Amino acid sequence: MNLEELNKKYLPLSPLERIQELKKDFKTVLYTSSFGGTAAYLIHLFHLGNPEQVIHFLDTTYHFPETLSYKKELTELLNLNVVDLKGDEFRNKFTRTDETWKKDPDLCCSINKVEPLEKIKVDYEVWVSGLMHSQNEIRSKLSIFEARNGILKFYPIIDVTEEEAKEYILKNNLPLHPLKLQGYNSIGCTHCTTKGKAREGRWINKSKTECGLHL
Ligand code: SF4
Repeated sequence: MNLEELNKKYLPLSPLERIQELKKDFKTVLYTSSFGGTAAYLIHLFHLGNPEQVIHFLDTTYHFPETLSYKKELTELLNLNVVDLKGDEFRNKFTRTDETWKKDPDLCCSINKVEPLEKIKVDYEVWVSGLMHSQNEIRSKLSIFEARNGILKFYPIIDVTEEEAKEYILKNNLPLHPLKLQGYNSIGCTHCTTKGKAREGRWINKSKTECGLHL
């Protein structure tokens, strides 16, 4: 199926049906999760639709302790198969001593997020992530499937709102990220995350809006 046919087939389906179909249509699926604000929603859909799916977590070494404990909690609750991915140790240490996130956050994200993903990306046909239209202007234009940087991207919850995802999490008695209750919404690294609605708390006072991993 080409891109147009894939989007036509998957658009009328529910997010859970999309995940179930993906399992039939593709043999090698890469799924990355940040275990951030609404991650439990997509994680739970995979738990129902394809529980064997491995979840890759990009450990930048700059996550909030609350994110790491939330990841542990969800992993134990849903018996998840989570694999941590880290950037090159020497280059990660360089970002720490250099405080690269202050002067060149694109380089810091490249070393700690993009490069480790690039290394494994070649082994997969399709890459799943939980981007949503409502999160920002760039994301509002995405389709369910996109061809991007040499891999097919799949966004099964692109047309779900953050409010709907939150309702699903509560309805299914899933835990909320602890920082959600303190006014954070989009939750990434400690150095680049503050409280705020949608993604307004990310890379505050910088022109950067995306880590470069997806867009
Ligand atoms: S989000 Fe900030 S700290 Fe994390 S990798 Fe990117 S620039 Fe570095």
